[in-house]
Amino acid sequence: MNTKNKTQLLGKKRSEIEDYLDSMGESRFRGRQIHKWIYKKQCSSFFEMTDLPRELRQILEDNARISIPRVLKQRVSSDGSRKFLLELDDKKRIETVLIPHSDEKDSKYTICLSTQVGCPIACSFCATGLSGFQRNLDAYEIAGQLLGSQRELAKRLKLPDSNNLISNVVYMGMGEPMLNYDEVIASIHILNDPQGINMGQRNITISTAGEVKGIDLMAQENLQVTLAISLHACDNELRSGLIPLNRKYPLEKLLPAIRNYIAKTNRRVTFEYIMLDNINISKRDAQNMVQLLKSLLANVNLIPYNEVEALDFKRPSPQRIKQFYNWLIQGGLNVSIREERGGDISAACGQLSLEQQKGKK
Ligand code: SF4
Repeated sequence: MNTKNKTQLLGKKRSEIEDYLDSMGESRFRGRQIHKWIYKKQCSSFFEMTDLPRELRQILEDNARISIPRVLKQRVSSDGSRKFLLELDDKKRIETVLIPHSDEKDSKYTICLSTQVGCPIACSFCATGLSGFQRNLDAYEIAGQLLGSQRELAKRLKLPDSNNLISNVVYMGMGEPMLNYDEVIASIHILNDPQGINMGQRNITISTAGEVKGIDLMAQENLQVTLAISLHACDNELRSGLIPLNRKYPLEKLLPAIRNYIAKTNRRVTFEYIMLDNINISKRDAQNMVQLLKSLLANVNLIPYNEVEALDFKRPSPQRIKQFYNWLIQGGLNVSIREERGGDISAACGQLSLEQQKGKK
């Protein structure tokens, strides 16, 4: 049978896999065994499910699939961050990054997930934007990045048990999550399923470049996840130059949507701000940000830019980073500077696949 026509079991709940086995005339117990193989052991081959009868393994191999993305390539940073280039069933490639919380051997990780192959937003500072847009990811492909990365990480660290290595999820990899809204929401439910990956909603952050339609929809979801907005500039002219989506949703449309989101959910919003030298870190930029955000239930996360070879943007010096931070603090904002991670492995999204496209090893 053509792979495409096989039933995809990745992303299904335990009861759904039980139903599938039931529909084949098999015991529901077999469904529970398979569910465990997928979510507790990150197993994608029925032949490796040694507690299933041989004939059943063959029947499943012929009729079903478990498409956990395969790691094609990885880079490990001196700070322990790992970037994986993953391959999907149709050979498309996406990236995910694992960031350790500390230098300890038993450190937990945050994973940065992709939601699209490429990205249609084409932000001027982003390597993913340079490679164009190919397609949306299915929910199982989004959640499957966690399983594939967890499996690889345990193998590399020679750990007997791969579970619980990843404690936080951010949707900040390739793609604009709000342009793939339904699959992103479905993937949150896969990650959150207590019988499966069991990732707490409060440990999940969804980041958007400012897609107002998606923010409005999220305001109506009963979810405990954090919403992050990629702000990067506080006047429309500069922001439109950095994030073309700002032409469709300028700050006068974006801010009311965020206010509405906060009013409906009573949840604090995070504003991500990539710091670009000589572009968006002047005193005037700081004043604009204070003006824009001071009345909001919000945190600001400053992210010193990870330079991309093909682009001219530069990372500011530590002094300029600190100066900008101080102006914001003096203005009364809640600000943190994201600790640098993975600068030596091109950890900003899209850089690894861009290099791969150019044939760089
Ligand atoms: S920064 Fe995010 S939204 Fe902008 S092009 Fe890159 S992946 Fe897309």
